Amino acid sequence: MNGQKGGILSLYFRTNLLLRIFVGLILGAIFGMIFENSQSFIEILTPFGELFVRLLKMIMVPVIVCTLIVGTSSISPSHLGRVGIKIIVFYLFTSLFAIIIGLFVGNVLEPGVGLELAKDVTGVAKQAEAPSLVKILLDIIPTNPFGSIAKGDVLPIICFCIFFGIALAFCRDSKDENVKNAADVMFLFFEGMSSVMFKIVGWVMQYAPIGVFALIFIVFSKNGAQAFGPLANVTISVYVGLLLQVVCVYCVICLFLKLSPFVFLKKVRPPMVTAFVTRSSGATIPVSMQTLEKSMGVPRSIFGFTIPVGATINMDGTTIYLGVCAIFIANVVGAPLDFSAQLTVVLTAVLASIGTAGVPGAGAIMLLMVLESVGLKVEGAVAIAYGMILGIDAILDMGRTSMNVVGDVIGSVAVAKSEKELNEKVWNS
Ligand code: ASP
Repeated sequence: MNGQKGGILSLYFRTNLLLRIFVGLILGAIFGMIFENSQSFIEILTPFGELFVRLLKMIMVPVIVCTLIVGTSSISPSHLGRVGIKIIVFYLFTSLFAIIIGLFVGNVLEPGVGLELAKDVTGVAKQAEAPSLVKILLDIIPTNPFGSIAKGDVLPIICFCIFFGIALAFCRDSKDENVKNAADVMFLFFEGMSSVMFKIVGWVMQYAPIGVFALIFIVFSKNGAQAFGPLANVTISVYVGLLLQVVCVYCVICLFLKLSPFVFLKKVRPPMVTAFVTRSSGATIPVSMQTLEKSMGVPRSIFGFTIPVGATINMDGTTIYLGVCAIFIANVVGAPLDFSAQLTVVLTAVLASIGTAGVPGAGAIMLLMVLESVGLKVEGAVAIAYGMILGIDAILDMGRTSMNVVGDVIGSVAVAKSEKELNEKVWNS
């Protein structure tokens, strides 16, 4: 298909995917405004948008299951030790701060308020009645993991996969050769499944420009040019959240460690910029390691563990994005998140960030899951609002990936410093 010379299809597949999605967004907006309130075009295009969302939902649960199991089981318990425990606790705390910041920014800047897609779109599932905190926490434990997978109940799925992944990690470390071999095969199976799922994600994304065009057309046809405001607002909100994470969390951590935040911000630039352009924490690993070794004075024995683990389970930027976008979508469909729904977002987003693969666009799939966890079924207006976010995903992904990587680097510095292994001569050079 790719190799064909000439023809519109070949041109389509040869053009850069991000560019195509962006063109889909722009054309959707332009044509939507030209054909304002055109019911017949909206009816024709709705199934094209729906198709895209259904394809994404099709892979949502398998992707979560595979990436979470692979992520948690790749940490070997025998290598965990003090450094391992320190870094995992550190990552969890910074992710918790990240989601609090994301929700704070979302509540203050209120992205999406005033757009109200749901006013003439049917199919918005209102949030479930507010359950108590005890119920939210208890409901995380599945009574039947397979039932949860079949129903797409996100939090219980995550919970089971984390248990499964940790148990698998222990079995891979077992002294009993049979158990170890069987567990290694199982690990390879999930790793293979994960690659297969991301292959499918790649195919689905080939359709993204058309899906985004259809979804954005509907938004602009119904709302005209005023739909630009909320898109700009959600982008600004995500970036404000990312900035707050740097200033209020990373810089404060530097001060606690008696290290200059300015030195940190200056030295962290190479991995930050690499993550910004590649949109992949995984691809940035070598640059983060080089920076930690050559310009920050962190020993290999520490970053050799903290960076790969961080690129797998620590996604502060993605967590902020999930919080802001969940609020945006809930506002746009006229079902703002109440306190208990936001509490659920805190849990789901932190856990989802653990299960987010360090590859471009992975966070957008996790957003589906966060939405489902607060009762916003991804159909009708929710699907359209989700399409709006997808249209600008590249812009959001650049910022959030940068912050994911900066979070891993500061974690490595903090652990090195607490272990008295930070070479301050190199740090100050
Ligand atoms: N692209 C991000 C990363 O690699 C993951 C995401 O899409 O949120 O860290």
